Parts: sequence; C-alpha cells; structure tokens
Amino acid sequence: MALAYPPFKSCPCGSGRSYAHCCGPAHDGSRPAASPEILMRARYSAYALRNAAFVLDTWHPDTRPARLHLEDGTKYTGLTVHSAENEEVVFTATLRQSGETLRIHERSAFTRLAGRWVYVDEIIPPTVD
Ligand SMILES: [Zn+2]
Repeated sequence: MALAYPPFKSCPCGSGRSYAHCCGPAHDGSRPAASPEILMRARYSAYALRNAAFVLDTWHPDTRPARLHLEDGTKYTGLTVHSAENEEVVFTATLRQSGETLRIHERSAFTRLAGRWVYVDEIIPPTVD
C-alpha cells in the first residue's frame, strides 16, 4: 500500500533526491531495497508517510509486532545514517512530538529473507536525547 506522495518532492528520508528516485520504488514494490541502508531509509520514509503496511512488511516475522500504530502527531524531520556495514546500520532519526524534538540513536540489524532485506531488531536499543 503506497500512500499518495508527490513523486517529485524531496524524499522524507532526507537523501536530497526526489521520492520517485529514492524510497518511492521500495514502497510501491517496483524496486525492493537493495541494501540494509536503502531499506533503513525506506522504512524511515514509511514512518514519515504513515505507511505502516510497508514498515510491517519489511520486518522479520520473528520480531515483527502484531500491529503498528503510527501517531498522527509525530513529525519525522530528519535521518542521518552514520554507518552501514554488513548487516548493520547506525543512524540518528529526528522526530518532533508534542512540540519537543527527539533524536533517536540506534544500531539496527538486517538480514536477507527469501531474497530481500528485512529489519530484524536493534542491536543497541534506541537512546533518546
Ligand atoms: Zn528516501
């Protein structure tokens, strides 16, 4: 399920590229994420666009929550990928919630399942500052 988002607008993941040339093809299934970093970015964009179906679909079945509720009041204002090596991505995601800015630092693990990348779990749980 891809939500309507103008394809020419800059991608919510902050890559500087248009949505159609960044996370859009991962969301609509036309080009599955080719690496953990690309999937990490696509999942961040999916949170930003309230595309819970994509977030759940790219979550390993062993660790996936039964349901995911994305808060309307949360704004996803930025993503910085610090490193992406092997099956790990270290990043900082910036959110605004109730007038407060949260910076979430996390090291996430990904793996390949049936030929495509999926998110497994955090290796270092998120810390907020
Ligand atoms: Zn993107």
